[in-house]
Amino acid sequence: MLRFQARCHVPTFCNFVAHYSVTQVEKPLDKVHYTKLFINNEWHNAVSEKTFPTVDPSTGAIITQVAEADKPDVDLAVEAAKQAFKLGSPWRYMDASQRGQLLNRLADLIERDRVYLASLETLDNGKPVSMSYNMDVGETIKIYRYFAGFADKWHGKTIPMDGNYFCYTRHEPVGVCGQIIPWNFPLVMQSWKLAPALATGNTVVMKVAEQTPLSALYIASLIKEAGFPPGVVNILTGYGPTAGAAIARHMDVDKIAFTGSTKVGCLIQQAAGESNLKRVTLELGGKSPCIVLADADLDQAVNHCHEALFFNMGQCCSAGSRTYVEESIYDEFLERTIEKAKARKIGDPFQLETEHGPQIDRKQFDKIFDYIESGKKEGAKLMCGGERHGNEGFYIKPTVFADVQDDMRIAKEEIFGPVQPVLKFRKMGEAIERANNSRYGLAAGIFTKDLDKAMHFIQALQAGTVWVNTYNMVGCQTPFGGYKMSGNGRELGEDGLKAYTEVKCVTIKVPQKNS
Ligand code: NAP
Ligand code: MG
Repeated sequence: MLRFQARCHVPTFCNFVAHYSVTQVEKPLDKVHYTKLFINNEWHNAVSEKTFPTVDPSTGAIITQVAEADKPDVDLAVEAAKQAFKLGSPWRYMDASQRGQLLNRLADLIERDRVYLASLETLDNGKPVSMSYNMDVGETIKIYRYFAGFADKWHGKTIPMDGNYFCYTRHEPVGVCGQIIPWNFPLVMQSWKLAPALATGNTVVMKVAEQTPLSALYIASLIKEAGFPPGVVNILTGYGPTAGAAIARHMDVDKIAFTGSTKVGCLIQQAAGESNLKRVTLELGGKSPCIVLADADLDQAVNHCHEALFFNMGQCCSAGSRTYVEESIYDEFLERTIEKAKARKIGDPFQLETEHGPQIDRKQFDKIFDYIESGKKEGAKLMCGGERHGNEGFYIKPTVFADVQDDMRIAKEEIFGPVQPVLKFRKMGEAIERANNSRYGLAAGIFTKDLDKAMHFIQALQAGTVWVNTYNMVGCQTPFGGYKMSGNGRELGEDGLKAYTEVKCVTIKVPQKNS
């Protein structure tokens, strides 16, 4: 299936260097092993016996049917997670260091099956296989290892409170964690959620995205093989408004972590408020600005702004989807940007040189064309792309719009596709105001050689992450999350552990005198 050759280069996301290269990866069409619900370390049909299809976005063909979980399956999974969390259960009894060892074992198994997992990810999601192999699976391994190390290092403090007391804090797991993930980075999103939850001793009921169930189910099989006790991790395939909503409303789910659209994020928060006030963390959409100042290294800025948007076919929450360029370099920047977009290699995601695969599904494909049409109607200038590639699958050619104004839909709304709007600005203050004039606040990029200007932007931009002369560099060590309607809370890094633990404060009276 795979042979090693010289190094290959992939687009960057995460602090990642490609160590391996592949010359051939097969489409694992007849090698999909797991399609049922994973509850209590066993495989189950849905209570309703219903299934739904998962599709290959490069052809539109059905790959296989998977079990369709609904409320009764959520109830079973939550009960399993609740039992696994009980005091005295193998999981609660386990040393923290042993939890870390299990996570490390899981990482080893993912490494063992790295090629297969990459092929499964590309089959189900459509992303180029060199990216699945190097970035998605590579980053997933790192995340499990990073949080494995934290299992016995995330501890409380002793506190010098007034009076004669011994006061300390304990970091205790929250309990049963509901986790709902999207389809754009199925393996990575699964690891962002599972790794910190398990490192801190919680149990999990996860619903994966309807479009990309396959790699998550394979990871479930590795979780069992690694030796996690039954009920600690339960993985459900199914739809959002049914299975997802049942998790969000469940009275025995203590915390919910969600990644996806802002619209559904609002529903999750509402469901938590209307049920048991479960803790909520949300990682939602964005309309992140990339601001290029006239003094920037132009080649570097063009390349980063291109990758900021087209990485993962534009299906990235932190996509740099508003490129603001200072007036004096606008024309040259635009010319080079168009050249780059036209040169992006689009095609079969199983070809190793492919940089750009299909969009995830018909719904997203149609939605993106709707945005392209709105851009044209509202007076933006279509400079390249704007049409489908080939005649099967959900491919859209990299698209660049010039003369974009802030009030156009393509400049305001999250497109989640390969459409780069390029906007012009004249003054720094104006760029900051326009960049911040969004309901989102996930990320921002600044391109300049002037440190003073960079510092000014860093302070003024309302965004959870600011990149300077780079973009989309996210590592397991770096906290990630949004301001404003881009979400609540942070994932990754030490900050990512906070949402998975309750802080218990213990105060013990110390006798005044020796008796
Ligand atoms: P979405 O509906 O927010 O889906 C994300 C996850 O939430 C999926 O697992 C989904 O299930 C689930 N879900 C949907 N409705 C739910 C509900 N009522 N209660 C609980 N869970 C629910 O996003 P989408 O429809 O896939 O994509 C739409 C847009 O969302 C995109 O165009 C993009 O703008 C944004 N998006 C953002 C991210 C991100 O990383 N922040 C990722 C994906 C999409 P299903 O599998 O049934 O959909
Ligand atoms: Mg699929």
